[in-house]
Amino acid sequence: MFEEIKVKTALNRIKESSRITLPFHWDLNIYRGCEHGCNYCYAMYSHRYLEKVEKDSFLATDPPGIEKCAFFQKICVKTNIAEALEKQLGAKNWKKEVINIGGICDSYQPAEAEYGLMRQVLPLMIKYRNPVIISTKSDLILRDLDLLKELAELTYVNVAVTVTTMDKKLSTLLEPLASPPENRFSILRAFKGTATVTGLHMMPILPFLTDSPQNLEQILSLAAKCEVDYALSGVLYLRGDTRKHFLDFLELNFPERVDPYRKLYAKRGADRTYKAELYGILNSLMEKYHLSGDCMKPMQAKLSYPKQLKLTDFSKK
Ligand code: SF4
Repeated sequence: MFEEIKVKTALNRIKESSRITLPFHWDLNIYRGCEHGCNYCYAMYSHRYLEKVEKDSFLATDPPGIEKCAFFQKICVKTNIAEALEKQLGAKNWKKEVINIGGICDSYQPAEAEYGLMRQVLPLMIKYRNPVIISTKSDLILRDLDLLKELAELTYVNVAVTVTTMDKKLSTLLEPLASPPENRFSILRAFKGTATVTGLHMMPILPFLTDSPQNLEQILSLAAKCEVDYALSGVLYLRGDTRKHFLDFLELNFPERVDPYRKLYAKRGADRTYKAELYGILNSLMEKYHLSGDCMKPMQAKLSYPKQLKLTDFSKK
């Protein structure tokens, strides 16, 4: 269900408390809500004010695993986003700061195939030579390869791809409308050798579902083959709406995992011992495949970014 809306401003300044942990201060979300329907989605809170979608608006053909959640089903399309964005990019006091496109939605979700808003947004970024970061789970981004390559010749462009599992069946269950994992690697291959900085986001790692050393190694070895500039990983964080939704999802699809999860997640973050063991495995894999975990270095190189802006915790993304 799409609802077309008009916005007054396009860019959202990130809360000060989050700014010290993120390598950018501005978000641009061209949609509200996200059809990818990831059952661990951290951004569900952003739709809390919307009412639950009416039951009869769901089709019998809806993919399994999608909870009847407004965030996944009611997509607000900001049809005047380009107009609002140009006002901000063209303002005298705008300092060409890095913009994170898609902080609480995927800019290349299925709606984008219909609305094509990114093809209005990217020419503006080119016009104003504005640095951007885009992370996605959709190979629809390849439609805009020409614009992204052009922008990367002018300024810093970071394309990050999120992959949680190489198991296609599990991915369909976890992330119903995102591209299959192999297609996501085709994005990284397409940007290889261009001026674009590429990254792999292996997050969230889901205990007892995607945390096997084999899965982690498969993903990181493929990222290394694609010559990504960095790889980041983070364990699932469970709080608020996400916690409830994800535990309901487990109950439905992996009931035997519910108790182990409740034990591991007595708090919002996973148990410390579990995390220490997992990060031990991850560190040795990063070393084995000569992967860097530093996403700031390429940004600093291209933008002479202030040194005090350090990335310390990206695991909630
Ligand atoms: S792609 Fe990102 S924003 Fe969209 S549903 Fe998945 S986790 Fe949420």
